[in-house]
Amino acid sequence: MNKIGETTLQIDLGALEHNYRYLRSKIAPTTKFLAVVKAFAYGSDMVAIAQKMEKLGADYLAVAYAKEGALLRDAGIKTPILVLHPLPANFDEIIDRCLEPSLYSRKILVEFLEVAKAKNQKAYPIHIKFNTGLNRLGFNEADVDFVAEQLKDNQEIKVASLFSHLAASEDLDEKPFSLGQIESFKKNSTTLSQKLGYAPIRHMLNTSGILNYPEAQFEMVRSGIGLYGYGNDSTIDPQLKPVASLKTIISQIHHIDANETVGYNRAFTSDSPRKTATLPLGHADGIGRQYGNGKASVLIHGKKAPIIGNVCMDMIMVDVSGIDCQEGDEALVFGQDKSAENFAAGAKTISYEILTAISQRVKREIIEG
Ligand SMILES: *Cc1c(COP(=O)(O)O)cnc(C)c1O
Repeated sequence: MNKIGETTLQIDLGALEHNYRYLRSKIAPTTKFLAVVKAFAYGSDMVAIAQKMEKLGADYLAVAYAKEGALLRDAGIKTPILVLHPLPANFDEIIDRCLEPSLYSRKILVEFLEVAKAKNQKAYPIHIKFNTGLNRLGFNEADVDFVAEQLKDNQEIKVASLFSHLAASEDLDEKPFSLGQIESFKKNSTTLSQKLGYAPIRHMLNTSGILNYPEAQFEMVRSGIGLYGYGNDSTIDPQLKPVASLKTIISQIHHIDANETVGYNRAFTSDSPRKTATLPLGHADGIGRQYGNGKASVLIHGKKAPIIGNVCMDMIMVDVSGIDCQEGDEALVFGQDKSAENFAAGAKTISYEILTAISQRVKREIIEG
């Protein structure tokens, strides 16, 4: 990969393509594929990822909020975009930008129908979300008649899909619960389809769902983290390639004596003479304070350099004693040779959190695959 001159998040579109092909190989050729690109495509680059997924033939894209979808439309993305978490304040923008809302509650459904009517829509595509146990968003079984009543003989909108979301797809100890969710989804979607008089496509699986419950792929699957190179499973991870690599360079090296301290609040005290390196990224770039004080490390010339002391807003200090390195040398925070899952684990969090935390201050560099 290219040399960097400052803190850079390199985004490898070849790795994205590899991951897409791997995930596709786990499902039937006829099953549609929705690429989840919410939260700046898991902290990478939403437009570059969406363009690549469009080229690769993804059937759908999904974002969490309407304004993320609008950014994709501004960039010329033509693929259908599901908005997972729309709010009434976004309904005008959703229709104006040809975004497709997930309707998940009685209030949201009724209000969206009113806006669709006021805007003279015909067969506007919407998606009905069922709550099957996550208890986050979605209609319950008891709402099915209400939903059918609202939608029946309604010319303004057309149901493009029915969907639900698993609560613990990566945790096989929860298999009975997940199977219960799948059954409940099947039942609700069958009842609603019968009442509507047509059968919208159905989808339930996220990345770990694809890997653990392929029998529940229905007509479409939704993947986010797997596309970005993480499978929530140490046996799957080697099959995938991390898309994002966060790299930085050594700004300054210090040689300190025993009993000196490093950083704010003097949180690190050296027990022996040490060599430290200051790196130009901090909590404002997404490396939270939970990674400080030895909880995480970076790789310099292939060797581990733990973060010492507290993470500052714009900098971290790492211990490079015993590493032959100089000012200007590269440091890998996470990426191909050092997974974000591993970096996150030291601070008891998950790949999703560290990836999406990388702030917009960090330069993005797209590597064409
Ligand atoms: C974020 C999200 C996904 C993607 O999940 P991954 O575990 O990243 O594959 C799928 N479906 C819904 C409803 C989501 O919110």
